[in-house]
Amino acid sequence: MRKQVIAGNWKMNKVHTEAEDFIQTTKNEVPSSDQVESVVCAPFPFLQKLVEETKGTSLKIGAQNMHFEESGAFTGEVSPVMLKELGVSYVVLGHSERREIFKETDEEVNKKVHAAFKHGLTPIVCVGESLEQREADKTMDHVEAQVKNALEGLNDEQAAQVIIAYEPIWAIGTGRTATSEQANEVCTHIRRVIIDFYGSEVAEAVRIQYGGSVKPANADELLSQSDIDGALVGGASLEADSFLKLVEAGK
Ligand code: 13P
Repeated sequence: MRKQVIAGNWKMNKVHTEAEDFIQTTKNEVPSSDQVESVVCAPFPFLQKLVEETKGTSLKIGAQNMHFEESGAFTGEVSPVMLKELGVSYVVLGHSERREIFKETDEEVNKKVHAAFKHGLTPIVCVGESLEQREADKTMDHVEAQVKNALEGLNDEQAAQVIIAYEPIWAIGTGRTATSEQANEVCTHIRRVIIDFYGSEVAEAVRIQYGGSVKPANADELLSQSDIDGALVGGASLEADSFLKLVEAGK
């Protein structure tokens, strides 16, 4: 059985005191990590403090992006070495907001995935189609290409540890959730793509999250689907109460 991963993606929200309050309220309330992996992906300035405050608890901290280079003339960027040194465990890569707004390419996402493994960070790789692509019946092809490109060159052991987040762009922040059937259909397809490349043992180990307007009211149904192994949550992860409900749903 795959363990569910419930990850909050705070995006560019909260100030320091709000981040602290959230962590103080939730860090001892999340279920044990034997039952579910609970992760908060916070903005860079909060990471060091949040990692320190959650030491010894089942709540883990992730970043929302990083560069693939270890150091150098990349003004404004943060390296995997820096994240590892802080004690960060996870990193969200290739979020659709980064792909759309910051023009991140599949090739860059792939380099970042390799860099994450090199430095002992677990990548949460985001894939998903636009509304236009869904309406043109291109969802499966698009998501398949994104998955293949992101995983290119990984060995079996690494591929088995990747977390993939299927986030249809039209469902992000819109209140319009994919139905559990729509979400599971794409997650099943993603697992088939991984079977083709790595075989069923690796594919059965890979966790595939759904993301896009997940909230306590729809979490149970989404998380009970055969190929959905967790959620990547934006808006509903900002309040401690609803985050705790979501991690409960992942047990
Ligand atoms: P919402 O949960 O706010 O729709 O955001 C989803 C998301 O983009 C998580 O990465």
